[in-house]
Amino acid sequence: MVRVVDVVVDRVVQALDRPFTYWVPEELADHVDLGYRVRVPLGRDVAWGIVVAQSNREETTGLKPVLAVPDAFPVLTPKLIPLAHWLSERYLCYLPQAIRAMVPKSVRSGQSKSARGRTVWYQTVKPREGRASQKQSLYLWLAEHQPVTRQAVLAAFPQAGPLLRQLIQEGVVAERSAPREVRLGSAPYSLTPDQQHVVDTIWAGRDRPWLLQGVTGSGKTEVYLHLLSRVLGQGRQGLVLLPEISLTPQTVARFRDRFGSRVGVWHSGLSDGERRDTWHAVREGRMTVIVGARSAVFLPFLDLGLVVLDEEHEPSYKQEEHPRYHTREVALWRGRHEGALVVLGTATPALETLHRAHQGELGWTVLSRRVAGWRLPTVEVVDMRQELRENHRHIFSRPLLAAIDQTLARQEQVVLFLNRRGYSTFVLCRSCGQAVECPDCAVTMTYHQDSEKLVCHYCQRQQPVPTRCPECGSDKIRYFGAGTERVQAEVEHQWPGVRVLRADRDVLHTRDQYDRLYQAFLQGEADVLVGTQMIAKGLDFPRVSLVGIVAADSALNLPDFRSAERTFQLLVQAAGRAGRSERGGRVIIQTYNPEHYALTFAAQQNMEGFYQAEVLLRQELGYPPFTELWLLEWIGPSETAVQYAARVAVEWLRERLNAPILGPAPAPIARLRGQYRYHALIKSPNGEDVTDLLRELPRPDPVSLAVTRDPYFMM
Ligand code: ADP
Ligand code: ZN
Ligand code: ZN
Repeated sequence: MVRVVDVVVDRVVQALDRPFTYWVPEELADHVDLGYRVRVPLGRDVAWGIVVAQSNREETTGLKPVLAVPDAFPVLTPKLIPLAHWLSERYLCYLPQAIRAMVPKSVRSGQSKSARGRTVWYQTVKPREGRASQKQSLYLWLAEHQPVTRQAVLAAFPQAGPLLRQLIQEGVVAERSAPREVRLGSAPYSLTPDQQHVVDTIWAGRDRPWLLQGVTGSGKTEVYLHLLSRVLGQGRQGLVLLPEISLTPQTVARFRDRFGSRVGVWHSGLSDGERRDTWHAVREGRMTVIVGARSAVFLPFLDLGLVVLDEEHEPSYKQEEHPRYHTREVALWRGRHEGALVVLGTATPALETLHRAHQGELGWTVLSRRVAGWRLPTVEVVDMRQELRENHRHIFSRPLLAAIDQTLARQEQVVLFLNRRGYSTFVLCRSCGQAVECPDCAVTMTYHQDSEKLVCHYCQRQQPVPTRCPECGSDKIRYFGAGTERVQAEVEHQWPGVRVLRADRDVLHTRDQYDRLYQAFLQGEADVLVGTQMIAKGLDFPRVSLVGIVAADSALNLPDFRSAERTFQLLVQAAGRAGRSERGGRVIIQTYNPEHYALTFAAQQNMEGFYQAEVLLRQELGYPPFTELWLLEWIGPSETAVQYAARVAVEWLRERLNAPILGPAPAPIARLRGQYRYHALIKSPNGEDVTDLLRELPRPDPVSLAVTRDPYFMM
């Protein structure tokens, strides 16, 4: 008998989208196992691959041998092998693509077993007071990454040497030798009766997944912490998934304060080395809690007992590159296969999630009150059409102007939301009506006053503002629409001396910049914060008593069946930033559509009302949760070729499929970075499987086809 292994080779091409069988030479037999990395011959070449199955055979003629086994551990733990198959089948990607998404590069392509020498760890021991400075950012970084090695500190802060010494002298950072000991955590809050009820209910029903629907500020995180300590008490591990942007040091600190150094973090800012260390610590069970972003859902837990998906409605949980998975679905898969409790937490569940709860597919529990002493904010809707009729043409309505006045006079803080960055959202010629568009993308360009340039928000192209219309030569160029820059300028103009901070992708590029802004506003270094949806979630500013939503309609008119849902969620989450203390809070929503149901239900913070209205529409129009959507996108440099490929494919599908297919039609953004784009949308009734058909879809070169199951971004 000879041992043979099925190997998925790490090459992303259709011809290699299946395992290949190799025989294992005697001397390697003790070193290879399921999920291990192997070096194998491939044609006249050699390649890396991963073992996904093994068996014994009498006969091995025609098979090639495994050449080498570099590691002493599985790169894809055996429990996760079926998940790789599931991802590739469900989301129509190649197996090697699924594996690449699941295993960090530093583990997949690492140079053999990681050598662990003698290491010194740095960690923070008590909070540091004081203003933002180099030292402060170093401290914050340490607080987030601790315990860390000197090497890692210097990689992130090349000049950290003297600062590190100062922090150690001040006694806020300690230096000690590895191995790390377990630091004892802080005592938990005693739960409110509501929270206690939720913890007990979920724990009693932990054999099924749960929706925890809790209004903003109702203490959901505290519920997660208590469930975590029960799971850790059983000797199992826990995973808390957060949208990347909410993974701030403050959030991580809440978990570290409770569970000490058993907590690891996982986000896009980690170095390769940190990633590899955490991955191994999770696999060996040395790290018992991970607080992480999307891709942490693939970590190789030894014994996973709990997965929390916080803000489960966030669109960023949908991966946009292959495999185009939804984190929620992967979390539920792991829950089912590894016997882990899954908790989906949010104030504004995704419609699909709420529907599953209504159908009894998820356990469902509700926190309807904020923690003691906090009231939900009052919400007012201002009809901007009425403002216009009464000749008030300012971007701030009279009620919002008055409210900002009063709030500033009481020395409380204001947050203003606007979902567009830049100064003016478009530049238009008044003679011929032509707006300036990006030459490569079919979208208008945005004027940025900071740089005095027009910027395309899709491809980042920049160009000077024309003084004459490129179409008709007229000089009647005018600026229209307001972005965050303009709102900031208006505030500074209306209230001279008031300190304004801005939060959008033009000014915040790194996690550190985001943290500094957060700290500055929290510590009262500014009175007003102007921002995009970037700041709509998760932030906890006790001194904010007024939230203004400058243009609530901006997301309503997007060509996407989720636009009402997104608007509702954004408004409720934004409103949730107000009144996070005993002071209470006030929210003012400006809109040209005051009768729209997304707005009226958001103003009442009425999730169930919104759900009932929206679900009827979805049923009538054949959208999720009543159908499953497949978005097909054809992309290429020639419009005729793209259109032709789309037509042929859709005709081919129509002959074989009963499900309605919309299109093909030019995508809402018909040209992007110089490439033409056509879309079609399959609305497949639940239960009907179209994956086999889609695999066989004709794909003529040079047009590329991307297929997305459950698409989130229909632009
Ligand atoms: P959510 O995640 O639902 O928005 P949080 O968990 O952030 O709510 O809780 C809101 C605030 O209430 C936090 O500042 C938290 O420290 C505090 N809090 C939560 N639970 C309790 C409790 N049982 N007793 C006292 N304070 C609590
Ligand atoms: Zn013109
Ligand atoms: Zn562009």
